[in-house]
Amino acid sequence: MKVYFKELTFSTDKRYQLVDITYEVEKAVRESGVKDGLCLVFAPHATAAIVANEHEGGLMQDILRKIQEEFPRDGGWLHNRIDDNAAAHLGSAFIGADRVFPVRGGRLIRGTWQNIFLVEMDGPRYRRRVVIEVMGE
Ligand code: ZN
Repeated sequence: MKVYFKELTFSTDKRYQLVDITYEVEKAVRESGVKDGLCLVFAPHATAAIVANEHEGGLMQDILRKIQEEFPRDGGWLHNRIDDNAAAHLGSAFIGADRVFPVRGGRLIRGTWQNIFLVEMDGPRYRRRVVIEVMGE
């Protein structure tokens, strides 16, 4: 079995932001040489997440609005007593910091309207990491 590991970094410039990382993830799959297997996309952060959905400006704003409605910054969260970012931790915990995609014929399988996004919820951050691991034959 082949295992390919790559770490990418992205900068964010807003508190809440979707960063489209589809191109970089698909590039990593090509570089891996894996034909059939799995591609893990993982953000090693407690205040960010990974999602797959449509890259449409309105929907991207809708997703960010829904996150803030579900996890309001002024929710009376206990973590805010020591660190003013409980809402971002909750978003990361409930949305999830990882997604796994099938790889077939050397290509990552995703829907036409499924771009891959890093979800920033505690920006701006100079250096957000995304780990990609491609495994298979
Ligand atoms: Zn915190």
